[in-house]
Amino acid sequence: MTLSSRPTSSGPSWTDLDVRADFPLLSRLENGHPLVYLDTAATSQKPRAVLEATDSFFTVHNANVHRGVYGLAQEATELYEAARTTLAAFLNAPDPRNLVFTRGTTEAINLVAHAWGRYALRPGDEIVVTELEHHSNLVPWQLAAGATGARLRAVRLTPEGRLDLGHLRELLASGRVRMVAVAHVSNVLGTVHPVAQIARLAHAAGALCLVDGAQAAGHRAVDVQALGADFYALSGHKMYGPTGIGALWGRAELLEAMPPFMGGGEMIETVEIGESTFAPPPLRFEPGTPPAAQAVGLAAAVRFLEAIGLDRVRAHEAALLERALRGLDALPDVVTYGPQGEDRAGVISFNVRGVHPHDVATFLDEDGVTVRAGQHCAQPAMRALGVDATARASFGVYTTPEDVDAFLRAVERCAAFFA
Ligand code: PLP
Repeated sequence: MTLSSRPTSSGPSWTDLDVRADFPLLSRLENGHPLVYLDTAATSQKPRAVLEATDSFFTVHNANVHRGVYGLAQEATELYEAARTTLAAFLNAPDPRNLVFTRGTTEAINLVAHAWGRYALRPGDEIVVTELEHHSNLVPWQLAAGATGARLRAVRLTPEGRLDLGHLRELLASGRVRMVAVAHVSNVLGTVHPVAQIARLAHAAGALCLVDGAQAAGHRAVDVQALGADFYALSGHKMYGPTGIGALWGRAELLEAMPPFMGGGEMIETVEIGESTFAPPPLRFEPGTPPAAQAVGLAAAVRFLEAIGLDRVRAHEAALLERALRGLDALPDVVTYGPQGEDRAGVISFNVRGVHPHDVATFLDEDGVTVRAGQHCAQPAMRALGVDATARASFGVYTTPEDVDAFLRAVERCAAFFA
């Protein structure tokens, strides 16, 4: 089908965010074309406010935090702790002390899998993940299971690509499940999982629930109290903040009971040669010099998102998604994955029939359109979907309807080229 049969700017409930000019990188060219950046699920671009906040920390406030008694060090510490308070409020976390800064989602999940897993898991216990998980929410649990004698089970996908909650109930019925670890939003399909319901089911079966929020934070409002999970992990760089900073929110009593994940400076109370006692959370889990400038940058990203409003961000992505899905569905040689009509974030996995996704991504790049191609760190998900790999387009606050149309034109050109 030709492009003219697709929707144009009269698309559904259009919301013009008009923030593109805040992102300096987006003014560069890609292969001589204006850059159409459709890989926000891998990492987002950074608004000027985040670049300036990070730069200003290094230029004016830099000192190591939680160490020096001189004024500059106290100033740096105050900025770092203010960033924690800002992020905690963003997640509606009741107490910033239950928010641990990590390098990102991967480290946050490893922290729980090791620190909680090591003291809580026994041989024969079960950990439930899903077939859709990113390797970051799968491999740490494999390691924890290997170290403790626990067993890993995975919730199946339905043929449409939804999590099979009936299967989750069956798995929970064993009475041995101690942890259910699930993504809030799938990085492969963009589907939003019913994590509040999953947390309730886990709790009813005596298990905890960890939510991997890497693809949700920054794309929709996250309220850790309303979700009711026990742990929530996120990455700053996927929500317009810097790389090298992320967070783990955990319920107070769980964090307090957990032993440290890594040892080092500033996470202790007393140290003898033979043994140490440990600081309360969050510092117990933040050994060594923390990425303070990055934390300050992440707080700037939170303020940037709050100034737009998370409901507008979500509506913007929903409108882009609908426009892109309608356009792709109109192309006979294109297959998209995931349930239709579902609550979805701005992520689309697709294939052009008979063309390897790497070739699709390389072809699109010639037109300045950047999409990810491969297995998206989710090999079991690829198997469950019955594909070797997919191409993936993902949207952010700066994505425009013109970006989506350029993407659709490039995909159409690619399908015609390889036909
Ligand atoms: N979980 C999901 C769903 C992701 O999409 C990603 C990254 O793509 C991660 C975890 C890992 O995030 P990071 O590499 O920032 O630790």
